[in-house]
Amino acid sequence: MKQPTLGNPQNTIAVLQKYNFTFQKKFGQNFLIDPHVLDKIIRAAEIGPEDCVLEIGPGIGTMTQYLACAAGRVIAVEIDRTLIPILEDTLDGYDNVKIINEDVLKLDIGALAGEENGGKPLKVVANLPYYITTPIIMGLFENHVPVGSITVMVQKEVADRMQVGPGTKDYGALSLAVQYYAKPHIVANVPPNCFMPRPKVGSAVIRLDRYEKPPVEVKDEKLMFRIIRASFNQRRKTLVNGLKNSPELSFSKEEIESAVEQLGKGLNIRGEALTLEEFAFLSNKLC
Ligand code: SAM
Repeated sequence: MKQPTLGNPQNTIAVLQKYNFTFQKKFGQNFLIDPHVLDKIIRAAEIGPEDCVLEIGPGIGTMTQYLACAAGRVIAVEIDRTLIPILEDTLDGYDNVKIINEDVLKLDIGALAGEENGGKPLKVVANLPYYITTPIIMGLFENHVPVGSITVMVQKEVADRMQVGPGTKDYGALSLAVQYYAKPHIVANVPPNCFMPRPKVGSAVIRLDRYEKPPVEVKDEKLMFRIIRASFNQRRKTLVNGLKNSPELSFSKEEIESAVEQLGKGLNIRGEALTLEEFAFLSNKLC
């Protein structure tokens, strides 16, 4: 297998100039130009020759080259068709890579895992386009796609929101949704100068290890997530008022107060103080 040639500013600029490539802001294009960061991502994802990796948004193929050296097989899904001839060039000689020109949000990843990996779990590794981080990650979880782990570069603030627990300002519906499906672990913080062009925000690499079974037992997942959304939509209100005012829920005041009372934290508690276990308890009571 060829050793990676991309991942530094000089070679990235050379490829961009060769193809007269212009960055498209609407696709969240910030390409990695730091080999240390690339090595760190590959190490954190713990990829081996037995793994089939799904890379979302390969760009000019920088991380794809690193992934191809470590994994058995790499499927790279890129929306921007102007990048496809570039990828065919930069990935020439990396025979275990398949490039798909498609919007990842429209792709049936379950079917892809079936075709490409015999239905066994894929590992997702990516420097994600930040404008669709949440739909990509929640899509992978909620559609029950066979995915073992997700190791991705995201906006630093989003990585923090995925990892925190109650009692912090970053805690919210995203924290609970991610922590219901996976165990999060921030691997590294990455400054803007590791990308071309430089993003306006800080970034972080986060690894999410998917649970085989969620850590809490919930009778009705959809109801629990409606309750969670209702609790955080009106952060300044008490949990009881948040649930009463939600257009997504139709419980009576008495039903809500009785369920909240059983949490044993008083009727003035706010939703942002509840753990995942407590949201599961509440939704099972209201179910
Ligand atoms: N992996 C490359 C790197 O690290 O240098 C590029 C990462 S860049 C942050 C995000 C990439 O995702 C871009 O190549 C962009 O064109 C692609 N992208 C954006 N939206 C996408 C979508 N909906 N489906 C697939 N790829 C997408």
